[in-house]
Amino acid sequence: MVLESERHAGGTIVSERVDGFVVEGGPDGFLAGEPELPDLAAELGIGDRLVDQQARGTALWNGTELAPLDEGRAAALLGIDASKSEIAAGFRSFAAGMGEPVAVLMERLSGNVKFAQGVSGLIPRKQGWHVAITGGSAHDVDAVVLALPAYTAGRLLEAAGASHARELAETPYLPSITVSLAYLDTQLSGPLKGAGFVVESPEQLRACTYASFKFPGRAPQGYVLLRAYLPPQDGDPGQVAHAHLATILGIRGEPLWSRAFHWNRGLPRYRPGHSDRVAEVRHRLARLPPLAIAGAGYDGAGVSACVRSGREAGRLIARLTAR
Ligand SMILES: Cc1cc2nc3c(=O)[nH]c(=O)nc-3n(C[C@H](O)[C@H](O)[C@H](O)COP(=O)(O)OP(=O)(O)OC[C@H]3O[C@@H](n4cnc5c(N)ncnc54)[C@H](O)[C@@H]3O)c2cc1C
Repeated sequence: MVLESERHAGGTIVSERVDGFVVEGGPDGFLAGEPELPDLAAELGIGDRLVDQQARGTALWNGTELAPLDEGRAAALLGIDASKSEIAAGFRSFAAGMGEPVAVLMERLSGNVKFAQGVSGLIPRKQGWHVAITGGSAHDVDAVVLALPAYTAGRLLEAAGASHARELAETPYLPSITVSLAYLDTQLSGPLKGAGFVVESPEQLRACTYASFKFPGRAPQGYVLLRAYLPPQDGDPGQVAHAHLATILGIRGEPLWSRAFHWNRGLPRYRPGHSDRVAEVRHRLARLPPLAIAGAGYDGAGVSACVRSGREAGRLIARLTAR
């Protein structure tokens, strides 16, 4: 049984289809060298839906011009935790966006997924857990996988008596805004070179991905889809993003539409000593009824790392409940 507090699945993974465009609100791809999503896709029967990055290379906007940028430095500026050679191998995604495996998983699990069922409390029983749901209902279960942001998991576990889990609740998550903007390709002064750029002084705009050049099928013929990354700020993110992109890329006129996603607590930023703290928390959780933690807050923030930690959590629970 999957208990999901929202009315839709996927969490940070949001792929929307708008007038033939594929708009990504959160992640837009994964490193081509990572096997987790291709393996999952094969299991789900959608291995043929993987798409490869087309345009390559990231530029640096230094305030005056777009200058060539080393891939390793681009990754560091974007906060991507990967080596230069991993970045050089490029990114992959799915034909309908990163939400595609989520949608197929939901079909497979249908009936076992309960939406709008936020977990508000966990009480250890002699064997298993009493899981309280916001609004008053509850479930008694043998084992729990907490695939939640660390700040929620930590709070639930601390209230369940695992005081050391406070460490998890304190993991910082950084805010960001993504804005997708659609244009006619005739609004651009020429074809865009590469997959996007990062900004040297990122007070209002951090980076931009040329979404419809990076992956196939992101915009209909004759249109361009761009995605801007902004730090949290006052003002309309769509207007701010367009104003910067118009200057940097020489875009004429207004966007056909724009769509902003606000991530108040987006990517976790691990503090020094993070993996030791997580290992200690896991060690102590072993004293409780079967429970595993999984997700971006622990063993890597990318989607591939989340798939890996989910599988490891599943294996741990299978082991613990087989006794
Ligand atoms: C803007 C942005 C761009 C990114 N780009 C990339 C990228 O290109 N590639 C990449 O690999 N990674 C990227 N990431 C990182 C990656 O998308 C996330 O770290 C990852 O998807 C998080 O997955 P998760 O399952 O750990 O957490 P979440 O996606 O946060 O999922 C947690 C789920 O738990 C639910 N939930 C919360 N509280 C409760 C509760 N009390 N009871 C029940 N359910 C609850 C939520 O509704 C949600 O569905 C990006 C992240 C952001 C914010």
